[in-house]
Amino acid sequence: MTVELGNTGTRIYPNRIRLRYNWWLGSVMGRFYRDLKEKKRIWGNTCPDCGLVYVPPKENCPTCFTKMNEFVEVGDTGNLLTYTIVRYKVPFVQPLEPPFALGIIQLDGADTGLTHLLGEVDLDDIEVGMRLKAVFRDEPQGNLLDIKYFRPL
Ligand SMILES: [Zn+2]
Repeated sequence: MTVELGNTGTRIYPNRIRLRYNWWLGSVMGRFYRDLKEKKRIWGNTCPDCGLVYVPPKENCPTCFTKMNEFVEVGDTGNLLTYTIVRYKVPFVQPLEPPFALGIIQLDGADTGLTHLLGEVDLDDIEVGMRLKAVFRDEPQGNLLDIKYFRPL
């Protein structure tokens, strides 16, 4: 099927391409994903200048741009800072069928929020400030979805 582009007389053939690619994680995110997969441990890192703890860890502090190399383990529990309910469907990119909830969780010991799925909760019962705990995937694959979702404590 072709579509006319405006009234220019030009016709286009709309289509999609799927593109496989590899993304080098670097040493900081490599350690984060490796220990998440192998040990079910969640690492952040601390800025030596401003003292903020980032999860996931970063190469450089986004606040003061200092190189960060001090890792700190944070908890698998935390507080829900904010959330949204996803009700629309986007093919190929969503981890779940809508509707589902995405939240930003400040893990215990961290100063920043981690965006992740919320599970084992009725969407109408989600509240900012609720306590959450990570539920790990049974067969980890070395990515952020090794945390299956966060559930209420
Ligand atoms: Zn800093």
